[in-house]
Amino acid sequence: MTEIHALTPLSILSEVFGYDSFRGPQQAIVEHVCAGGDALVLMPTGGGKSLCYQIPAIARQHAGHGVTVVISPLIALMQDQVGALHEAGVEAAFLNSTLTFEEASAVEKRMLRGDITLLYAAPERVTTARFLAQLDSLYERGKLSLFAIDEAHCVSQWGHDFRPEYRALTVLHERYAGVPRIALTATADALTRADILERLQLEASEQFVSSFDRPNIRYTIVEKKEATQQLLRFIQREHEGDAGIVYCQSRKRVEDIAETLSAQGINALPYHAGLDQKVRQNNQNRFLREDAIVMVATIAFGMGIDKPDVRFVAHLDMPKNIEGYYQETGRAGRDGSTAQAWMTYGLQDVVNQRRMIDESPAGEEFKQVMRGKLDALLGLAEASDCRRVRLLSYFDETSTPCGNCDNCLNPPNVWDATQAARKLLSTIYRVHQMSSISFGAGHLMDIVRGKRTEKVAQFGHAEISTFGLGAQHSEAELRGVFRQLIAIGAVNVNAEAYNTLQLTEASRAVLKGEVPIMLRESTSASNTADRKPKREKSSAAKPAAAAIAAALDNAGQARFTALKAWRSEVAREHNLPAYVIFHDATLAAIATIAPQTLSDLHGVSGIGAKKLEAYGAEVVRVCEGAA
Ligand code: ADP
Ligand code: ZN
Repeated sequence: MTEIHALTPLSILSEVFGYDSFRGPQQAIVEHVCAGGDALVLMPTGGGKSLCYQIPAIARQHAGHGVTVVISPLIALMQDQVGALHEAGVEAAFLNSTLTFEEASAVEKRMLRGDITLLYAAPERVTTARFLAQLDSLYERGKLSLFAIDEAHCVSQWGHDFRPEYRALTVLHERYAGVPRIALTATADALTRADILERLQLEASEQFVSSFDRPNIRYTIVEKKEATQQLLRFIQREHEGDAGIVYCQSRKRVEDIAETLSAQGINALPYHAGLDQKVRQNNQNRFLREDAIVMVATIAFGMGIDKPDVRFVAHLDMPKNIEGYYQETGRAGRDGSTAQAWMTYGLQDVVNQRRMIDESPAGEEFKQVMRGKLDALLGLAEASDCRRVRLLSYFDETSTPCGNCDNCLNPPNVWDATQAARKLLSTIYRVHQMSSISFGAGHLMDIVRGKRTEKVAQFGHAEISTFGLGAQHSEAELRGVFRQLIAIGAVNVNAEAYNTLQLTEASRAVLKGEVPIMLRESTSASNTADRKPKREKSSAAKPAAAAIAAALDNAGQARFTALKAWRSEVAREHNLPAYVIFHDATLAAIATIAPQTLSDLHGVSGIGAKKLEAYGAEVVRVCEGAA
């Protein structure tokens, strides 16, 4: 490792990682863990969790405590994580099923000699007898420094990615008393949090809960019309040449959308669990290593993807709950520069998600929790007030309107849908009363709008007293009313009977007019991008590197371009993503200062001692050559 003189957390931050200050609670966490305390860290995706255990690992290794073991389920990404540490001059290695027996043995030897600062391992590896015997040996010699349990929500069935192997990790606590543990996750609802503490026996640990706000991400949720066209317009108008992720519900849809985007000249690749493992890995590598790839994916994609310059995350279908939505959208803008989270949703999404819950083999209690979570997301989608305030309040944080979401920028008009809701509900009541049959949303809307369809004639539904009472409403409006009614639980979708709609306990108050139903007006514009913001955007985020570079003079832009080309070459040689060498923002900063000597590079964010030594001279040369 590059020699470090004073090993305070701050000196490691600046000398090893090249950053000048800690973010949020990082410092408190690092100090607590350095001193040997246990910790549970809840931080949003992109908040900077890695440094919370990497810096203590370095400090404690230096102080003679030995090896830190990082438990992570993300086998496909370990190589890049370890590569990034090597670039920063830190001794790290990984043990997982991608290594041959010989390679694994070599790593084990290095670990036993204490030559490794951070060892990454999959949970199923950590709990094998062979590995535990090696940990025993380290422990007996006082060379087992720290356990970092990443993606700790995997231990909980309430999290979105339950992995039974995580349950066995209690062995660490029982077998290696006194070795500190830090568990980290970006999933933080109260239920999951309590479960993590209990399952990992971290009840006595310090909890560090940071704000979940990601101020640089702009949230937009639009009603689904022609989803593919809406998506295409969004990308073409606002994200040309950007890297992004598009989430879809099904594998088939992933492939269709990837094809459609490609046909439009967008560099799109598919990713889902049904693809051949090689193809999947290759697409992931291209996304990480190349510029401006749009990954069209199911939720199988993304955990642990730490690409910092993803400029947008789009949801073409509604996810299951706010945790999932927040985790997925959190993959945008990790570098802190402006980024967007964009989603389309419609009644069909709600119906589909309901059905998946109803048809799942889980117990009733579990289903009830899942329904509640879906409703919260639906409430967010239907909201006409600040999205961020709602999101944060879901994570028990209070905040004020953000000025950087669609509703803040373009306050939607709301209309009083109380009467329309009553008409729909009483129609459900009356048709059921007539023949004990329930009907779907389409037919119910036809009745209220007074349409004489075949089905209306067949069932004599023109006789119902609500027939035609809502003729003034468009179908889109009534659909919106149904969504809202489903969101507040006043209508139940019966998945076992063709998604027919039924009244619930909560219907009564709405029928009586006791619950006002206020709805956002269904916009005729199919995309909020079609409308000019009524308010100026907030300046919470720094501009993306591309924007900084675009503002440079010609010589500056030439330096930026030359630096990127140089970086691609280095990244290819090292078989690592380009951002592991330097972030775009670091290159933009270098291009701006036009360094002539090594010392000009001092203090540029993202250049630590090792990188300065390894690349500094070349960077100066590239800049001068680009003039
Ligand atoms: P998380 O694991 O919480 O999603 P990461 O640890 O991947 O987030 O950090 C996100 C990004 O922020 C990374 O690119 C990292 O280098 C950067 N980062 C983290 N802490 C700091 C800091 N104190 N100053 C500047 N950049 C930071
Ligand atoms: Zn807002």
